Amino acid sequence: MATDRKKVAEILASTRRQGRRVLLEHEAKQVLSAWGIPVARSELARDASEAVRIARELRYPVVMKIASPDIVHKSDAGGVRVGLSSELEVRQAFDEILANARAYRPNANIAGVTVQEYLPQGKEVIVGAMQDPSFGATVMFGLGGIWVEVLKDVSFRLAPLTAEDAKEMIREIKGYPVLAGLRGEPQVDLDAIADMLQKVGDLACEFSEIAELDLNPVFAFDRGKGAIAIDARMILKEGS
Ligand code: ADP
Ligand code: MG
Repeated sequence: MATDRKKVAEILASTRRQGRRVLLEHEAKQVLSAWGIPVARSELARDASEAVRIARELRYPVVMKIASPDIVHKSDAGGVRVGLSSELEVRQAFDEILANARAYRPNANIAGVTVQEYLPQGKEVIVGAMQDPSFGATVMFGLGGIWVEVLKDVSFRLAPLTAEDAKEMIREIKGYPVLAGLRGEPQVDLDAIADMLQKVGDLACEFSEIAELDLNPVFAFDRGKGAIAIDARMILKEGS
């Protein structure tokens, strides 16, 4: 997949023009996609009918999530519905997600609800990037859930990453056996994860105005089946 520098620059500039530093999930995914990083296809719906139209285009089942720059943890806000499989479910989910978000944070600015393709569960990993004040673009890798939150089992590298750097980052976390395949469990697509780490590093190098980037989770599928960003958060530096 080719990288589209101009498209990335356009999306970042458009976010700034709207007076925001936080990209909405579907905007962050547009950036990733323009950079050749696989993402769950996602579109913003401003009303329930638009949500139904998008769901039909993407094909059922779909996932719906609150789209608000003020709501970071969408699940905590009752703002995520997975596996919706009819027009009725999409319409109900649209109203419920908005009501939950308003109850959770009454002053939140709400753009609408993103409708996205549903992907079967893969092994959950986390890929991140940030700008280190002294060293610049840095990439982070870890396993999802408690592996990161409780055990802090993550690896870091300065970008840009070589293919070998990316592979080392994957191998050096303690949870590596979970990915490498244990007791007959299949190995996940380590090459696809390594490719994603390299691309995220290149993106953070090329666009140093991206202060933080967080792909959490990425679903890693069996070997040869790829890895896809399921959720994405991107924050731009202060100023312009
Ligand atoms: P948040 O982190 O803001 O609470 P996420 O977008 O990460 O919200 O969604 C929460 C969980 O819902 C994910 O960890 C994943 O397990 C599931 N999920 C989200 N989007 C999808 C999708 N497109 N397909 C399948 N499962 C999804
Ligand atoms: Mg998430």
